[in-house]
Amino acid sequence: MEQVFAPWRIEWVERSESPAEREECVFCAFATSEEDYENRVVARSEHGFVLLNNYPYSPGHAMVIPHRHTNEYTALAEEELLGHALLKQRTLRAIEAAFDPDGVNMGYNLGAGAGGSIEHLHAHAVPRWEGDTNFMAVIGDTQVIVEALEDSYDRLHEAFAAQEGTRAPEQDTDAEHAVRIGP
Ligand SMILES: [Zn+2]
Repeated sequence: MEQVFAPWRIEWVERSESPAEREECVFCAFATSEEDYENRVVARSEHGFVLLNNYPYSPGHAMVIPHRHTNEYTALAEEELLGHALLKQRTLRAIEAAFDPDGVNMGYNLGAGAGGSIEHLHAHAVPRWEGDTNFMAVIGDTQVIVEALEDSYDRLHEAFAAQEGTRAPEQDTDAEHAVRIGP
């Protein structure tokens, strides 16, 4: 049987080295934090937010995260599911506009048996190009990766801000805060 290639199995890696700082769920912390640029939260809606992966399989690798702390997709209420789906659709549009990839992998790791390492549901969106290889494995240079994340943030921020029904915060020339989706 042909093996299905699933780059979203590469999980998000926390920046903090301190176990004490990891006691709180990092996605819940990002949901209420104002430090969007530092956290790489690029867009926010009523039900969730879009975060750049700190360990990108490819440039533009993002995650769509509902606010509710659960690792069970089946636990989401209809309204949350719809909000999550709409945010995924907007994320796909933003990735296509910002990076013009040949394709996008989108998927979940639900449960430890599937490679899930964070107890908070998140959908990976991974832009793909013909013949691409794992960006992190190729680059390996921390400074280059940080610069690539900053570049990806700016590009996605601009793409989200260009969508209808969004508003970038005031004084947002430096993209300090996530693009707001909806009223
Ligand atoms: Zn959480």
